Amino acid sequence: MSVCKWYSVCPMKFFYEQGKIEKFWIEKYCWGDWKKCVRYKLEEKGEYHPDNMLPDGSIDENLS
Ligand code: SF4
Repeated sequence: MSVCKWYSVCPMKFFYEQGKIEKFWIEKYCWGDWKKCVRYKLEEKGEYHPDNMLPDGSIDENLS
């Protein structure tokens, strides 16, 4: 599996490194099935998505 091309600039990387989100998200999406990531799909379409949107498209209000 390859790493998502957006990983180095993705807010999920920073939230993960700050201990704010579970490694699960990174392993499942960023280091795994990034094609299924909602953030990835929106990024490809050039569509807005908030920084606190998780890879499954849900919003985590605790993230900032
Ligand atoms: S959250 Fe999605 S867009 Fe961001 S690095 Fe992970 S797979 Fe890529």
